[in-house]
Amino acid sequence: MFTPSEISEIKKLLTPDKKIVIITHHNPDGDAIGSSLGLKHFLKQKGLEADVIVPNDFPKFLKWMPESKKIIIADYKRKVAGEAIYNADVIFILDFNASHRSGNLVGPWIEKARAKKILIDHHQQPEDFDFVYSDVTVPATSQMIYHFIQALEEEDKVDLEIAECLYTGIMTDTGGFRFRSTSASTHRIVANLIEKGADPAMITSNTWDTNTVSRLHLLALILGRIEVVKDGKVAILWLKRDELKEFGFQKGDTEGFVNYGLSIMGTQVSAFFMEDLYEDFIKISFRSKEDVDVNQFSRNHFNGGGHINAAGGKYMKSIEETIEDFKEKIEKEDF
Ligand code: 5GP
Ligand code: MN
Repeated sequence: MFTPSEISEIKKLLTPDKKIVIITHHNPDGDAIGSSLGLKHFLKQKGLEADVIVPNDFPKFLKWMPESKKIIIADYKRKVAGEAIYNADVIFILDFNASHRSGNLVGPWIEKARAKKILIDHHQQPEDFDFVYSDVTVPATSQMIYHFIQALEEEDKVDLEIAECLYTGIMTDTGGFRFRSTSASTHRIVANLIEKGADPAMITSNTWDTNTVSRLHLLALILGRIEVVKDGKVAILWLKRDELKEFGFQKGDTEGFVNYGLSIMGTQVSAFFMEDLYEDFIKISFRSKEDVDVNQFSRNHFNGGGHINAAGGKYMKSIEETIEDFKEKIEKEDF
C-alpha cells in the first residue's frame, strides 16, 4: 500500500479542479475494466470526474458494466484520448506495470504526459512512477482499488456501481475465486461488495454465460487437437488466422481457452498460440500450476511477462516454428 504520507499527498491531488484520467493495458480484460470503472465510480462519489481510457476495444461480455459505454477507446478516438492524456493532472495506471503494456499509441503518451502518475497494479516488476502501489500477491487490481479506498478511509462511499465493477474484476482475475492468490482478504472484500448490492448470479451470468455458437465451435476445434508433451506435463493449444476468420472471431472469443490445458490431470503448464488476426505475430498465453514460473519463462524466451502462474508473450515467427521453438525451450526447463 502507499505510505501514509503518499496517501495524504494523493488526497491533495484528488480535488474537483483536477483533470483525472484512468488508463489500463492493451487488450483490457475484466480486471482492467472492473478496476478502472470501479475507481471512476468511487471518484464520482467524491465529487470528481475522471475519464477511463483504454488502448483498444474490450470484449462484449464486459459491456454490461455501469458506464462501460463511456470508456474512451484510443484506437477509435485518437484525438480525444491523446488530448485527455496530454491535459491530465493525474493519471491512474491500472492493472499494468510498464507504459509499453498500453501499446504503441498510448504508451508514449503516458511517458510524455506531465501529470502525476499513480500506479496500482499486481504484475511483476513495476516501472517507477510518482506513486507506486504494486503487490504481486493480490489476485486482482480491483481488490487493490478496494484496499486503496480503505486506505483513504472512505469505505462508506462504496455504492452499487463500485461494488459491481470491483466484483467483476476480482471474479474474472481469480477465475471465479479459484486461483492461487485468492485469499481470506479477497473473500472478505467480496462479501462487503455483495453487501453493497453486487449480485453474484447476475454478474456471473452477464459476464460468463455469454458464449456464442461460434466460440463453442472454436473451442471444440482446439480441444479436438490439444497436444500434451513432456511426459504429460505441458499442454499445447493453437489457432490459425484462417480458422478465426472462418468462425467469425470476435474480441474475447478465445478468453479462457488456455485454462483447458491446465485442467488435464498431471499438467504443469498450458500454452496457447494464436496467430494475430491482422499482424504477423503469434500471441501466446501461458498458464501454470504451483511454483512453475511462466512469467520468467515468457520474459526469457517469448518477449512477454505477467504473473508467475499466468503470463503472455509475442513471437515473430510462424505458428509452426513458434511451437517448435517452444517445445525445444521447455526441454531445458525443470518442470
Ligand atoms: P493473457 O494470457 O490473458 O493474455 O495474459 C496473462 C497475463 O500476462 C496478464 O496478466 C497480462 O497482463 C500478461 N501479459 C500478457 N501478454 C503480455 C506481454 O506481451 N507482455 C507482458 N509483459 N505481459 C503480458
Ligand atoms: Mn489484473
